Amino acid sequence: MHIRGVVVDVPESKTVTTSYGESELLEVTVRPDRGAGEATTVTLWEDWTETAEYLEPGMELAVYDATEREYQGETQYTTGKETMVVVEPDFLVDVTDIRSWVQCPRLYYLNKLDGADVSEPLVKGTIVHEVFGDLLRGADLEAAVDRRVEESGLDLGLLGADAGSMRETVKQHASAIEGWLQQGRLTDADNWRSEQLLVSERYGLKGRADAVRRGAPVELKTGKNTRRDPRFHDKVQAGCYALLLGEQADEGDGSVTHSPDTGTLLYTKNAAVDDDEESGDLSPAKEFSISTGFLQFILRARNHLAAVEATGDVPTGYEADAKCEYCFEQDTCMAVSGRLDQESKAGQVGTPLPEDERAYFERFYRAIEEERRAVHREYAKLWEQSPNERADDDRALVDLEPTGRRQLDDGRWELRARGTGAVSKIRTGDVVLASDGDPIGGGAELARVERLGSADNDEIVVTTDEPVDLRRLDVYPSELSADRLLTSLHDALLLQPPEWKAPLFERRGPTFDRPDETFVDNNEAQNEAVRTAVGAEDFALVHGPPGTGKTYTLARIVAELLDRDQRVLVSAFTNRAVDNALEALEDEGITDIVRYGTESGVREDMQAYRLDQSGEPDDCAGELQDASVVAATTASCGSRALKTQAFDVAVVDEAGQLTEPGTLAAIARADRFVLVGDHQQLPPVVQAESSETQSALGSANGGQLRADLQESLFERLIETYPRAGVLLDRQYRMSQRIQAFASAEFYDGQLRPATAEVAGQSLADLDGVAVDSLPARLRDAVSFIDPGGTQVGNTNPEEAETVTDLVSTYLDAGVDPADIGVIAPFRAHVAEIRKKLTDGVTVDTVDRFQGSSKQVIVVSFVTTGALDGPIFEDYRRINVALTRAKKALVLVGDADSLSQDDRYRRMVEWAE
Ligand code: SF4
Repeated sequence: MHIRGVVVDVPESKTVTTSYGESELLEVTVRPDRGAGEATTVTLWEDWTETAEYLEPGMELAVYDATEREYQGETQYTTGKETMVVVEPDFLVDVTDIRSWVQCPRLYYLNKLDGADVSEPLVKGTIVHEVFGDLLRGADLEAAVDRRVEESGLDLGLLGADAGSMRETVKQHASAIEGWLQQGRLTDADNWRSEQLLVSERYGLKGRADAVRRGAPVELKTGKNTRRDPRFHDKVQAGCYALLLGEQADEGDGSVTHSPDTGTLLYTKNAAVDDDEESGDLSPAKEFSISTGFLQFILRARNHLAAVEATGDVPTGYEADAKCEYCFEQDTCMAVSGRLDQESKAGQVGTPLPEDERAYFERFYRAIEEERRAVHREYAKLWEQSPNERADDDRALVDLEPTGRRQLDDGRWELRARGTGAVSKIRTGDVVLASDGDPIGGGAELARVERLGSADNDEIVVTTDEPVDLRRLDVYPSELSADRLLTSLHDALLLQPPEWKAPLFERRGPTFDRPDETFVDNNEAQNEAVRTAVGAEDFALVHGPPGTGKTYTLARIVAELLDRDQRVLVSAFTNRAVDNALEALEDEGITDIVRYGTESGVREDMQAYRLDQSGEPDDCAGELQDASVVAATTASCGSRALKTQAFDVAVVDEAGQLTEPGTLAAIARADRFVLVGDHQQLPPVVQAESSETQSALGSANGGQLRADLQESLFERLIETYPRAGVLLDRQYRMSQRIQAFASAEFYDGQLRPATAEVAGQSLADLDGVAVDSLPARLRDAVSFIDPGGTQVGNTNPEEAETVTDLVSTYLDAGVDPADIGVIAPFRAHVAEIRKKLTDGVTVDTVDRFQGSSKQVIVVSFVTTGALDGPIFEDYRRINVALTRAKKALVLVGDADSLSQDDRYRRMVEWAE
């Protein structure tokens, strides 16, 4: 019997005398059905009573395999021998985090803060694990080692390590693996599979098992262990996978008995130990048995971690019996506790940061963790939503029809399937969950999307480690962004000197030594922006409304910085913006550039600059270290490789779209920085929604946490230090008529056309366009059309019809399809319009239009009731939508509905 509900009351535990002697129990009151059901009592016995230390009202509690009984008209539940208790089951704890938590909870916290630096054990461990996977997939040992060492060229180069000696070391480990595999293969019943992603809905766990053999976990460790038994923490890790595998094997009765009862740890360094020098058990493989009691212990550690995450508390090290004197993180632990004035079992060293910096750290730490919880809510949707709900939410492509598979040279698999033409958030290059239709209980693999279906060819192609019947693809949420934001916060606050932080914390204003030179001779604002940026001793801010040439200005800034022998990091939130900036740098004649990014992330014409991370270590590292300009997304700025690099100046584009910690990721790598952006366009993307994603515990200040992330550093600084900013006030994009509304509403009327030609442009300027053939209402540069439709779900059929008619009218008048863009608030409406339109016309949501422009833009508002679509979440979205048009702008919507809001009423009046 299972019970799951929201905890209402957690009293003290008590001791009672039973027929077995004295026992401890804890009577927890829960309300099933997410708090909506009748309150009931769950009695936790013996070791489960330690849950009282961290369980709080508001948390979710799930109890599997409990005994049910009727007591005074109430159904009650009590734990038995096989019962498993899970706190906050929707929080998917990673297996490796449980391992660190069991060593010391503070170690888990520190790992989150400072990320993993490039180190020899880490690089070696990664290579050996990869080779392990290759061997399991049948690869040749020598070839696998050579390939994997070569792929780690950059990491090895940054370490100053030699590829030849790494190859030898890895071969020793790999030989141990191979020897052991050959022993295993003697048994007919052996069946293997390499790295397997496992997600547990029941236990709130996720992880990638190194290997699974006959249904039991095998974990690989590149260290040595000459004892007979595996190390305790290693057993914990393998035990977690046993829980996960048990859930996979379970046929629905929810019992823990399906978990494998043995696990294997493979200590590959044992094979390299000289048995003359060391005694003990030198066999690499150590099997151990997994009891239900051990699995319950693991689950209690997991529960404690999940509860601490729910409350946002910082672990001290006292929670476990940690031995600080043996801890390899002792120095970091003491330094972090000293600087942040935290309690730690290891004690503190150093002076605490000023109080405002600690408060800032605390505030953003919590906000980032709230983002992490939002990611966990996304995981939960994998099982909470039906396949069709996920498809409707653009989170999955379902009903795919497998069309083939083949094994690639490296042992991985290429899977193909025919799509249905549906749209989703999934993009080429994304890492997604490929499954046979059931991503949790069925066969599922992490996959990279190589090709998504197009209008001419609806075949979808992905690559995976192991084959699976490709019937469904799901967006796979990633915590990487939260991890990187935390390390950025840590690096900026704990590693940067006080002088660097002074203006950020308003201890002093930024200073400038502007050169007395002309850098741009036909645009005073752009010239001033370059002077300010070049002369900035702390930072400069370039405010670039739509079409004002901010990317050109950015390139001029970089060119002048290079002339002054400065090393520059160019960064932005999206790959698209980074590549646009590179294109502008090329136009300035700058080619000494290294683009850091994945092959699928970098634009085709910028691949020549992309850093190949595989090859000779010295060449790979030298290419990065010697580049005057390194370009990467802000997320990549927090990567292991870029954390080794230092720059004189970081120039960040689209800075208005970045959260503060997101901006810190780039600027913490440099002495000074220049932020280029527009806080009147799209704000930073924040996942956490103030109500939906928060537990009852976190919701009190959830709105504030979200607000903290929604204000960019760019916006905060430009408001605090207006004199550090330069507004690019001349725009080269829109006609006078089109720009008028945006200028008045968003830029205090300061935006103006750069030239008379820009101001007076019209469709008549385009070759082959017969403006006379357009109906009168479309001859004005701006028009409003109310088709009188009705919103149905996330579309409006009449509006979609009107939009397609409008587009046809422009096409008939001779406008090139590539010159027309349609902006709609919902993906469903986008899909509806796309179905009806000729190829070549771009139809998309406003977020995907930022940064681009078209001669003709049609905006479809869809709504006919309350203004609650995504486009209405923030006025700045409307600013973006309206400022994509150069010569003609048509607004299609329900005038009455739009007029409910003063600003949209003014917009309708302006357009009519
Ligand atoms: S030094 Fe002590 S408290 Fe700190 S992480 Fe290590 S074991 Fe934990």
